[in-house]
Amino acid sequence: MAAGDRKLRAVFLPYFTSSHIIPLVDTARLFAAWGISLHGCRRSELRAVFLPFFTSSHIIPLVDTARLFAARGISVTIITTPSNAALFQASVDRDIAIGREITVQTIRFPSAEVGLPEGIENFGAVDSIEMAGKVNQGIFLLQKPMEELVRNGCPDCIVSDMFYPWTVDIAKELKIPRFILYATNCFYHCAFHSLRLHAPHEKVNSDAESLVIPGLPDPIEITRAQLEDYHKTQTEFGKLMDLVKETEVQSYGTIFTSYSELEPLYVHHYKNVLGRKCWHVGLPSHAIERNRGLEEKNSKRDYLLSWLGTQKANSVLYICFGSLVLFHDAQLREIAKALEESDQPFIWVVRTRDQTEEESWLPEGFEQRAKESNGGLVLRGWVPQVLILNHSAIGGFMTHCGWNSVLESVTAGVPLITMPLFAEQFYNEKLITQVLKIGVEAGSEVYNPMFEIMNIVAGKDKLVRAITGLMGGSEEAQEIRRRAKEMSVKVKKSGRTEGPVTLIWTL
Ligand code: UDP
Repeated sequence: MAAGDRKLRAVFLPYFTSSHIIPLVDTARLFAAWGISLHGCRRSELRAVFLPFFTSSHIIPLVDTARLFAARGISVTIITTPSNAALFQASVDRDIAIGREITVQTIRFPSAEVGLPEGIENFGAVDSIEMAGKVNQGIFLLQKPMEELVRNGCPDCIVSDMFYPWTVDIAKELKIPRFILYATNCFYHCAFHSLRLHAPHEKVNSDAESLVIPGLPDPIEITRAQLEDYHKTQTEFGKLMDLVKETEVQSYGTIFTSYSELEPLYVHHYKNVLGRKCWHVGLPSHAIERNRGLEEKNSKRDYLLSWLGTQKANSVLYICFGSLVLFHDAQLREIAKALEESDQPFIWVVRTRDQTEEESWLPEGFEQRAKESNGGLVLRGWVPQVLILNHSAIGGFMTHCGWNSVLESVTAGVPLITMPLFAEQFYNEKLITQVLKIGVEAGSEVYNPMFEIMNIVAGKDKLVRAITGLMGGSEEAQEIRRRAKEMSVKVKKSGRTEGPVTLIWTL
């Protein structure tokens, strides 16, 4: 359905006497017989509006959840800007072609107003913190036009990214429920709540000292240095997070792109200790289409798959740090040295500030040696991660613990080497290594406030230890691998995709 194809609606206001009521109601019935809706904004079909934030790791899970709603017969509208829409339009078009009701409403990004080149509308497209600030400014300017689109669409509910606190007010105005969607897990939000409540970091003597997060189902250990800076000092981002948490409480409920099978004790904690409603939709793309991107012709993908076909099962280490991380040369060089020393087949996805600049950080002849020995691939740009992780040759994933990457790895049954950097990634690491025990830590020690990483997070020696620890075939490594495969079977069986949709039908 196109944005303009909305049904005509009429409101009838009969006076309080039968001689007025009868003809007016009869006329209303006549209108209804001609297909005009008589209930203002309410129609027989349910409509949900989805508002993704402007970064791939928020867009992918939110849009996939929207597609899941559409697959259950709900009419879905996704509001975004043209460049962001281009990231997912093909998958939405495939859904539309098989009869699903999805409308993508685009709104012009105020590029000129904030001083950005046309087309830079996503945090993944920036190459400096300054540019990221301008994207943020643009998003701020879009609030009013987005509010207007939501109003005009007359939705029955709003599914909002966490970073749009204002959607609480518009949901109140329209008297409809607002769901907050967290593209992360319940474990992190339980930990966040406990840290805000008990401030255990104020009771330790140094940044390097471990503390136990109080009141959680497991004794989770973390150091003060690994906590977000806004737990220790007031920051603008900390204020925003507090606002996000306030709007979470004012929402009808929370949607997590996580599996309840992955964190049952924390689902219980969130519902019964924090007293909030939540639904786990798992990895929505898993329920929609197993092989994202397989349909299109793509020579990079074909090359990758044929290279993976030459490798032994569980032998290849996949290394990728998501859509945002910008490492400086020194860290990249440490990774390269660790790969040479550990002599493990690998696929390494590299994201540098300027993809065209000369890559002086690579040890001389590194790529050539990898090519000649058929031992590894260094890739630039976007790769089909889900497809790679699901290849039988992949035996480990070195990750910054972005939640989408973790979830994709868990679903594929691939154990992890954790190298958290920013956002809630340190908590994701603790979930992986202390609760699920499906990975080993590379040894990140300090939380980074931004995705541009200036320092060396893990040097060669730490990395070699982690790589051989996971890929070396020790008894402990085999246990970790066994648990990862077991968890994959569990979450794949769960079919956990009904929750919010069933709920909406009852609203
Ligand atoms: N991704 C991908 N190809 C790439 C890089 C990233 O498909 O070359 C996808 C990845 O599969 C995941 C998302 O981008 O779905 C990254 O999200 P995550 O939460 O892991 O990290 P972030 O990008 O927020 O740091």
